[in-house]
Amino acid sequence: MRTLSSFSVSARYISGIAGCVPVLIFSLVASFGAENVPCPDAGWSTVGASDLEHELICEGTSGATEFLASCGLEEPDSTVATVHYGMLECFGAPAQGMYDAGTGELSMASLAACNSAKTPEDVFGRMQPEAAYRSIAAHEAAHAILHANGLKPAQWVGNEYIASVVQLSTMPAISRSALIRSSMEPRPVELNEISDLIYAFEPILFSVRSYLHYSDLEDGCDFIGTILEDRVSFTARRAPGWRN
Ligand SMILES: [Zn+2]
Repeated sequence: MRTLSSFSVSARYISGIAGCVPVLIFSLVASFGAENVPCPDAGWSTVGASDLEHELICEGTSGATEFLASCGLEEPDSTVATVHYGMLECFGAPAQGMYDAGTGELSMASLAACNSAKTPEDVFGRMQPEAAYRSIAAHEAAHAILHANGLKPAQWVGNEYIASVVQLSTMPAISRSALIRSSMEPRPVELNEISDLIYAFEPILFSVRSYLHYSDLEDGCDFIGTILEDRVSFTARRAPGWRN
């Protein structure tokens, strides 16, 4: 398991493992006694969200649902996004959102917490806050949908690839362009440029490369299908001629 202490984490998929949690002292206050508010689209709802957070989360989950439904994926029966006052925490690093496949819980830090904790290394430091917040909800919703469609915890890199594609594909073009250009010059990306190592050390670059790779494919849904069937390897490979 990698250590994530030196940079801020935008979003994480976890699978019932200890280490990624809402910071309890804040989270209790946010969601205690709060009612479950359904999104306009059936299936998703929020707990502890302000009106604006509810709107943005619902837009994000709806965008992810529509995007993956266009590739034939079904949405979970019902998923609740709980908003916590403080930042979430994942392996000692702050996280803005997370989906726990073990419990089926989707957690979001509050918009205010994400904004006040933003750094140049996360999406809030690189785009308008509402667009960033909506994109985190879309990313986490994608994890929930992929889990409901049988993606296994061991396929976590493929899971992050698809969630990144959903996150960037569903954000406004101006936000996407800003995020891409903050990481690299836009160009076609080869699959071997996307790996668990890149994710560990430069998660936003991982997301940007995933989107650029995906957007250059002839049949993106077919590629998502091969990930679901566990026929794609994202393990970092040795360069030709590399020896030890
Ligand atoms: Zn993720």
